[in-house]
Amino acid sequence: MRTQQNPYMTGEFFTMICKQIEFPKIVETSVPDAKSRLITRADGVFYSRIDQNWAGDSIRLDVWLEYPAPKNRAVRLGTFLTRDRGPHAMRDMARLMADFMYTAGRFIKTHPEDFQWEGYRVSGIAEDGTSSGTVYCDRVCTAMPQVVKLLKTNPYVQFFDYKEQEACYFRMGTNGMLSEYGTLEACQKAAQDAIRENEAKNPAESPEEECRPEAEETAKEEKGDSMNEIFVGNLCLEVTRRCNMGCAHCLRGNAEDLDMSRETIDQVLEQVDMIGQVTFTGGEPSLNMDAIRYFFAQARRYGKLPRSFFVATNGKANQEELAIELLKQYPDMEEQEFCGVALSIDEWHDPQDYDRSILKGLSFYSDCKEKPDGYSLIPEGRAAKLVIDPEKMIRPTSAHIVLSGNSDPDAGALEVEMLYVAADGKITGNCDMSYARIEKEAEYTISGFRAAVDKLVSELG
Ligand code: SF4
Repeated sequence: MRTQQNPYMTGEFFTMICKQIEFPKIVETSVPDAKSRLITRADGVFYSRIDQNWAGDSIRLDVWLEYPAPKNRAVRLGTFLTRDRGPHAMRDMARLMADFMYTAGRFIKTHPEDFQWEGYRVSGIAEDGTSSGTVYCDRVCTAMPQVVKLLKTNPYVQFFDYKEQEACYFRMGTNGMLSEYGTLEACQKAAQDAIRENEAKNPAESPEEECRPEAEETAKEEKGDSMNEIFVGNLCLEVTRRCNMGCAHCLRGNAEDLDMSRETIDQVLEQVDMIGQVTFTGGEPSLNMDAIRYFFAQARRYGKLPRSFFVATNGKANQEELAIELLKQYPDMEEQEFCGVALSIDEWHDPQDYDRSILKGLSFYSDCKEKPDGYSLIPEGRAAKLVIDPEKMIRPTSAHIVLSGNSDPDAGALEVEMLYVAADGKITGNCDMSYARIEKEAEYTISGFRAAVDKLVSELG
């Protein structure tokens, strides 16, 4: 419960704590720091320095509050001074230092809300409204993964924004989607409504438990006689051919009004056993958030979550939705160091205020695509009409799906380095192709992926 109207100033705080401690008689002055600043966080740690001055005729004690993250920052609270010298004076000043730090630390601990004016508090909430597992975060991008983590052990999570002094509540639906509500009551009501709806649709079935075997059974049927386990190193999903830009260098060609269907995503997960990295591409992938969410939800159901994800976006649509979905998945990625989200920042895309993008605040934001001085182009799609410096041209490569050298057909363990699934379900082994070339050169659709791989194995003899 907050008792302060405004944050404490460092000088005000120093003076207040001084009034609560007994000074040794030798102390001559206690001076608050001249640059009084706001204390806006409760997670500061005290540190101090006690020393004789260079002439050795006085002892000085300085105390600071230090904040290690996000950037190391220390604010001085004040200084104590004595003209007395010798070991007895040094011992008295050391006791004063201990008393000050103990009293100040205890005061903050017993009034945490008076010191926390920025950042976020994330707490798990049980059905009876009691909270547990509270964590404090200074940024949204570190707070959201905590929301997802706490929802694994709690039905609801309270998200409190200290700056706005506002709380909201989250719950996770059975489809794996995160939903936000203004009150705990609204959150609980939505959860109860969802249970009733599910019961009406599937009497006597618990959706989560009952769907999994069904999904696995379907997968077995789809796999047919093939006993091979197929690992796809990089699964590229062209979730949409729509785009909100029309870049001259676009290797895909003109945008098309075509989204990847849920059926295609199901087929991908039925055909592939393990996934290294999933890359969402397009078109502009953020225009089909439903497909991205559906992929992750279904991958969980099938027990086939990828080890990492990557998405490059032009930054013009659904960026918060994209950030939230990726944050939701990030804690469960086995290879977090390979996760990335990148903004297409280069001379070809419309200039915009990329620095304001929420994506730039994510710990896995990647600037690997930022090449402001131009980069190599593939003469396909619209880029085929450009005059490209041969030095900067990448020659188009084959559409064939190939087995990686890590495959061991005798053991039935196969690896395909790249599988590109187009929005209409056609597949290739190359992610850098125009829509026209995919149409012309793709030999299979996703439902024939296992058959295509088996054929490759039989050709190997
Ligand atoms: S390069 Fe990307 S953003 Fe530009 S038109 Fe092509 S798909 Fe759209």
